Amino acid sequence: MSNKQTTSDDNLLEYIEPVAPEQASQNTEEDLAARASELRHQIEEANYQYYVNDNPVLTDAEYDQLMLELQHIEHEHPELQTPDSPTQRVGAGPVQDVPQHRHPIAMLSLKNARNEEELLAWHKRAQSMLPNATFSYVCELKIDGLAMALTYEQGKLTVGASRGDGLIGEDWTPNVRTIRTIPQKLRSAHIPAKVEVRGEIYMSTKSFEKLNAELNEGRLFANPRNAAAGSLRQKDARTTASRHLDFFGYQIGYIQGLPVDSQWEALQVIRAWGFSVNPHVKLVHTLQDVLAYCKQWETERFNLPYEIDGVVIKINDLAQQEELGSVARDPRWAIAFKYPPIEVATKLLDIRVNIGRTGSVNPWALLEPVNIRGVTVSRATLHNEGDIQRKDLRIGDWVLVQRAGEVIPQVVKPIIERRTGTEQVYHLPEYCPLCNTPIVRVPDQAMAYCPNLECPARNLESIIHFVSRGAMDIETIGEKMCAQLINAGYIKSVADFYTLTRDQLLALEGIKEKSADNMLAAIEASKQRPLWRLLVALNIRYMGEKAAQTVATAFGSIDKLLAAEESDIVAIPGIGPKIGHSLYTWLQEPRNQALIERLRQAGVHMQEEQQANTGPLAGQTFLLTGRLSSMTRSAAEEAITGLGGTIASGVSKSLSHLIVGEDAGAKLTKAQKAGVPIHDEQWLVDLLKEHSA
Ligand code: NAD
Repeated sequence: MSNKQTTSDDNLLEYIEPVAPEQASQNTEEDLAARASELRHQIEEANYQYYVNDNPVLTDAEYDQLMLELQHIEHEHPELQTPDSPTQRVGAGPVQDVPQHRHPIAMLSLKNARNEEELLAWHKRAQSMLPNATFSYVCELKIDGLAMALTYEQGKLTVGASRGDGLIGEDWTPNVRTIRTIPQKLRSAHIPAKVEVRGEIYMSTKSFEKLNAELNEGRLFANPRNAAAGSLRQKDARTTASRHLDFFGYQIGYIQGLPVDSQWEALQVIRAWGFSVNPHVKLVHTLQDVLAYCKQWETERFNLPYEIDGVVIKINDLAQQEELGSVARDPRWAIAFKYPPIEVATKLLDIRVNIGRTGSVNPWALLEPVNIRGVTVSRATLHNEGDIQRKDLRIGDWVLVQRAGEVIPQVVKPIIERRTGTEQVYHLPEYCPLCNTPIVRVPDQAMAYCPNLECPARNLESIIHFVSRGAMDIETIGEKMCAQLINAGYIKSVADFYTLTRDQLLALEGIKEKSADNMLAAIEASKQRPLWRLLVALNIRYMGEKAAQTVATAFGSIDKLLAAEESDIVAIPGIGPKIGHSLYTWLQEPRNQALIERLRQAGVHMQEEQQANTGPLAGQTFLLTGRLSSMTRSAAEEAITGLGGTIASGVSKSLSHLIVGEDAGAKLTKAQKAGVPIHDEQWLVDLLKEHSA
């Protein structure tokens, strides 16, 4: 296979939308020459930061905009194009102190299509060059990592080199050898004397988050792509080894004796040689199917365990690829359909805090409003003060903000290079902004909290939590209604829900008879919730669903729990000293005991249901790992316990079943070692169906 590279400038902008042509034509040649030179300088600098330092100072969207503007000027005024312009080159040259590797076939970039029209224009161009051809296409996810060329001689890995400037790359062989998904030796009976397999080194989102959490302030990576490049390009291969990089093979570069004649076959051969090929690659025969693939992955990409920034569409037939050749930096036989960025730069205007239901002080970022994937973002979570310090975020900073999937926007890192010196270091307030109580910091923990049980913010949050779905699940009462009931003076404590009268509700604005009755019925129904839900609802620090279920099963009633010593609670398997201490202290507090008493008087259920041990799954223990697609994990657990099964707190030899969803974690490996029966989600669905019928 050869990636013929033409140097003609004729078709450089054949698919690129003009950038503000009116504006360009109004400028004098001198202005344009100065602008082109300035753009070249800015792009070179951005390339250096991005490719050499793995530390972008622009977002990709900002960078792409500069590049488009330069391409446009050079297209309109070819005399302004310089041979070393970044529009003519790929990436950045290799750094001096790393061994160099000359690629036998140039490693090119890819032309981008930002929308359907640009994709169709690319296709039209290919068709006009080969008017009698029928195309099929291979659609591949565009993995956001760094391109790598791996040379194998007599089946053994001899060189692993980065793309560099496309002609000369950096030789990172010792580091590449530490990546487990890169075979040291090729498998299969048909091994060519020499072959170069190309693909993408990438870092999973999980490893990226873990790495950034471990790095010190000022050295965070902006995204998994930069983290992958920065982790590969390390002086000490042991550092690379500790970073958990991965690899997908997607192309055969140089080869002695071509064994295949299509990209699709090439992928199969690469797989047979022992590489991991992305499982979502697809061979399609129409442009409609190409577009459907692009559309499908625009949303589904957020379920992947790694980041992609688009889809790469390649003409399948290698002979057709050869005929189409390439222009400047990009092959004509492939195009990258790029998705809108999930990451943008904006200004951090202020850092503020809110008080959570357990009194936790939660800082959040007030941002200059910015559009990310169609949504205007002006706030982002900041976790805690330690996180702000670790990231070295300062008020007034330019920051990178990310919105991936349905996740709340996150401030990834400050762009330190854009600092002006006026930015201010942030300190958490010493007093609660709502009730003025001194804020308490837990030694050795990042958390800070307002200890005032009467704090208005804390009270509202805890009341909202009490009625929420994961707790007492009082349908028909939401956040707004809680605030209305508090404002009316009807609810001061969660026990007040059980003394609400119809007349009180009818006196509230906008409440008619029917909704008042529905609310009272929902409150009544909540009295029958299982004990563990009550434990969740009571706002005990660290008490989540799992811990509450374990405690409820172990003690069986609130009275036994009230009589327990701290050591009894901590002795329960799955309950650590932190939760144990928090629960015990909460139960000892007289005002909490009074609350329990009021709830008891109101008729709230305070005993563990006994039926758990009598259903069809009685005596069997279950544990779930990974993401389920047909139901949430807690719905699955509830269904199992509803049929008498027990949810285990961890893997042990006595576990009856491990249910494995997508992206299963360490529990799977542990269960395999312990010889525990392992089942997929469908097995569980069938089991639940069988017993629920
Ligand atoms: P690119 O990332 O747009 O596309 C080419 C690359 O895609 C290949 O080199 C390869 O690494 C990758 N790829 C992933 N999956 C692939 C697959 N299945 N088949 C083939 N290739 C696949 O191009 P580029 O030249 O690497 O980088 C240019 C882009 O990088 C810019 O558009 C910009 O988004 C970004 N950039 C940003 C800055 C910045 O300052 N933010 C600076 C330089 C570049």
